[in-house]
Amino acid sequence: MDLKIAGKRALVCASSKGLGRGCAEALAEAGCTLVMNARSAGPLDAAAAEIAETYGVEVTAVAADITDPEGRAAVLEAAGDVDILVTNAGGPPPGNWSDWDRGDFIDALDGAMLTPIALMQALMPGMMARGWGRVVNITSRSVKAPILPLGLSNAARSGLTGFVAGTARQVAAQGVTVNNLLPGVHATARIEVLDKALAAEKGIDQAAARAQRAEGIPAKRYGDPGEFGKMCAFLCSDHAGFIVGQNILLDGGETFSTI
Ligand code: NAP
Repeated sequence: MDLKIAGKRALVCASSKGLGRGCAEALAEAGCTLVMNARSAGPLDAAAAEIAETYGVEVTAVAADITDPEGRAAVLEAAGDVDILVTNAGGPPPGNWSDWDRGDFIDALDGAMLTPIALMQALMPGMMARGWGRVVNITSRSVKAPILPLGLSNAARSGLTGFVAGTARQVAAQGVTVNNLLPGVHATARIEVLDKALAAEKGIDQAAARAQRAEGIPAKRYGDPGEFGKMCAFLCSDHAGFIVGQNILLDGGETFSTI
């Protein structure tokens, strides 16, 4: 299918690895010009060069912390007017509800809620003025069903979800759609860290920990960042203009709910 976004300019935050990279690749495959971002310049430059070479598109790489106001300003300056925004960053750390203090909550809110909101506030007015735009926020299945050790994520991402629910309906008439993608377990560096922790906790090896985790997913496997990216690219396509303010689970059926 031709997604009809060749030549559009896309900013994909936190995209040198994992789900962000999957989104960057799928948008590049659709012919978008990319602005990619991550904190470490080495892996980011390597990913940008590989994507530019593979798909023959222009890629600008900006090494900066997207959750830091100065880093974000640098990314926004390099990005200029974009047609497509994919927000993403590292997730809040695990822990227990009784241990987090105000500072922990402020950090989680900054990263998982206020950063995507600031990016939308900076870039959506231009999209609305030009009459076309797409925003996809990478959130988590934790907004549909809580993940117990991830209380900071459950809370902060729910705040973003509430903001998007209203805002998406305020910008849709100007041709701008805002939707959230909710990943379940995907095979990325982040999940490897969690698998290692699970293996250590249970006294098993990492492969056994992965198999145990996959067993709890109806699809009996982890998601792949490539398939995640393709869903993102479809939401950013010209065909997806009637999808407004939705929360789309990509979790192999792990979240049990009827609708
Ligand atoms: P990942 O494989 O660890 O990749 C994270 C990417 O984001 C890297 O490119 C990293 O590069 C960049 N990054 C992290 N923090 C950043 C920041 N503050 N500013 C700019 N770039 C940043 O992680 P992932 O699995 O793709 O996860 C992406 C998001 O989805 C996270 O918020 C995660 O909580 C959420 N999620 C993931 C899963 C899953 O199964 N993978 C499930 C649910 C939710 P640098 O380190 O160089 O900055």
